[in-house]
Amino acid sequence: MQALQYRAVGAAPEVVTVPRPEPGPGQVLLKVTAAGVCHSDIAVMSRPAEALGFPLPLTLGHEGAGTVAALGDGVTGLAPGDSVAVYGPWGCGTCLMCAQGKENYCTRAADLGIRPPGLGAPGAIAEYMIVDDPRHLVPLDGLDPVTAVPLTDAGLTPYHAVKTSLPKLTPGSTAVVIGTGGLGHVAIQLLRALTPARVIALDVTEEKLTLAREVGAHETVLSDAAAAGRVRELTGGLGAQAVFDFVGAPPTAATAAACAAVEADVTLVGIGGGTASVGFGATPFDAAFRAPYWGSRPELIEVLDLARSGVLDVHVETYALEDAPKAYELLHAGRVHGRAVILP
Ligand code: NAD
Ligand code: ZN
Ligand code: ZN
Repeated sequence: MQALQYRAVGAAPEVVTVPRPEPGPGQVLLKVTAAGVCHSDIAVMSRPAEALGFPLPLTLGHEGAGTVAALGDGVTGLAPGDSVAVYGPWGCGTCLMCAQGKENYCTRAADLGIRPPGLGAPGAIAEYMIVDDPRHLVPLDGLDPVTAVPLTDAGLTPYHAVKTSLPKLTPGSTAVVIGTGGLGHVAIQLLRALTPARVIALDVTEEKLTLAREVGAHETVLSDAAAAGRVRELTGGLGAQAVFDFVGAPPTAATAAACAAVEADVTLVGIGGGTASVGFGATPFDAAFRAPYWGSRPELIEVLDLARSGVLDVHVETYALEDAPKAYELLHAGRVHGRAVILP
């Protein structure tokens, strides 16, 4: 079968032919229907060898959807042809975090060598993929895999971030979204669907800000050194009750902190090396700073239910598997609008 692999540190990913996998006991083989392209893959491919954390070659793709192709020994509750989405942050299934469905915070995954598909285990940008356990599959139940597959990360990650801040986002409040790409353009829609907050979106090009307005941002601001001041103006000097940074670079983390109101939540989701330094007098009174990772299994079920209710409009650009390297180039250049989705 064909698969997109990251094969050598620093090299571009390439489409190669690899053996079609067979499901072992307890595993599920999916025929992949759609796979999303996340900016985290670019961050991973920018790491030096000693920071990679897993061996190469690696089949990329941690947003996956597919139809069940074969069941390993002992798997029940699924039938060939079922259309499913993959819950990606695989955990051990038995620690306290996993027992609560928060496999993204599994306390044993690292020790046991359990890695998400596309981030250590073979991923979804291939004709077929192995899912290690049926609990990591959620039925799509009528959702189109092409527009639903980004919800497994570009939807789930902002959903988890926004859900934690719901108590702060009361009528009259403001939420700021920094970076309106794959995750950010879904975050704006989640904020509009789940809260009465006014949404202010920041990005670096007018094209991205146009998409942000199309998907529901009330106001848009070019992301530069003056952006936090503009957010303060738009909020009568108070700042925002929740700030979500989907870039997480040093300048955006600084903007995020500078946008925050008293008692705000500041959530750094992007992994661009930005940090916030918290201290009395340096940050607004009682502001909380968080850096969450992905989301829980129940939250993925909730995001897909929300999509089924019709309130999410995920923008996708589709590519054939042979063009997947091009999708990564465009994402790296900031030229993808919404999410790039590979159709193997
Ligand atoms: P993306 O490339 O689709 O979107 C990033 C957006 O940020 C683009 O629209 C880009 O124009 C914009 N941007 C770049 N520099 C900016 C700046 N200075 N100010 C404002 N906007 C700017 O990326 P994505 O796939 O949505 O991922 C976003 C970030 O989230 C990445 O860092 C990714 O690695 C990270 N991520 C984190 C988690 C997690 O669990 N914490 C999960 C998924 C992705
Ligand atoms: Zn991701
Ligand atoms: Zn666990």
